Amino acid sequence: MLNWNKINTVLLDMDGTLLDLNFDNHFWLEFVPQRYAQKNQLSLAEAKQFLQPLFKSMEGRLEWYCLDYWSRQLNLDIAGLKAEISGLIDILPHVTEFLTALQQTDKRVFLVTNAHPDSLSLKMEKTCLQPFFKQIICSHNFGFAKEHQAFWAAFQAQQGFAKQSTLMVDDSLAVLRAAQSFGIEHLININKPDSQKVAKITNEFPAITDFREIMPPSTT
Ligand SMILES: [Mg+2]
Repeated sequence: MLNWNKINTVLLDMDGTLLDLNFDNHFWLEFVPQRYAQKNQLSLAEAKQFLQPLFKSMEGRLEWYCLDYWSRQLNLDIAGLKAEISGLIDILPHVTEFLTALQQTDKRVFLVTNAHPDSLSLKMEKTCLQPFFKQIICSHNFGFAKEHQAFWAAFQAQQGFAKQSTLMVDDSLAVLRAAQSFGIEHLININKPDSQKVAKITNEFPAITDFREIMPPSTT
């Protein structure tokens, strides 16, 4: 599926790629509606009915990932609520062995995420994955989400990676499509981003269920 000899730079998404999306799904689809319902004297069903179209309308925009934005919109302390259930943050199976194997190669490895800086730091604090990366790239610092060409142009201008020898692994088809339009050569989709849900079947990009399928060859 992947010729590692052709890869110099590896770009890895965080939520749903390295970390179990169950945390984020539970947080936005259950925990936030619960707290919103309590605060506004609504039933849980009413809160969900109000929140779901609101979340849907912001998908793919940087605000969608912005804890400050949602804190203001919903009048809730979103970062505080995340910290409350941070025990649910978890690394997906075989991610640590994949990152350890990558570390023994000469590839440049970046974490590239749309997550808000507060969410990112909470997750790095909980998972201790930070040392595996040459650098952590947060799209908020560029002002554009990974779905936008402007993000890719700014990121490449900063890091100077070669598109034809770059691998991007992400669970979002919208992000993979944007990376493809920009010219990133090697694209892989994670088809089981949430450990509690069944794998999603898609033929648009080469897909893996977990990282055992693309382990880099051992150099020892
Ligand atoms: Mg993701």
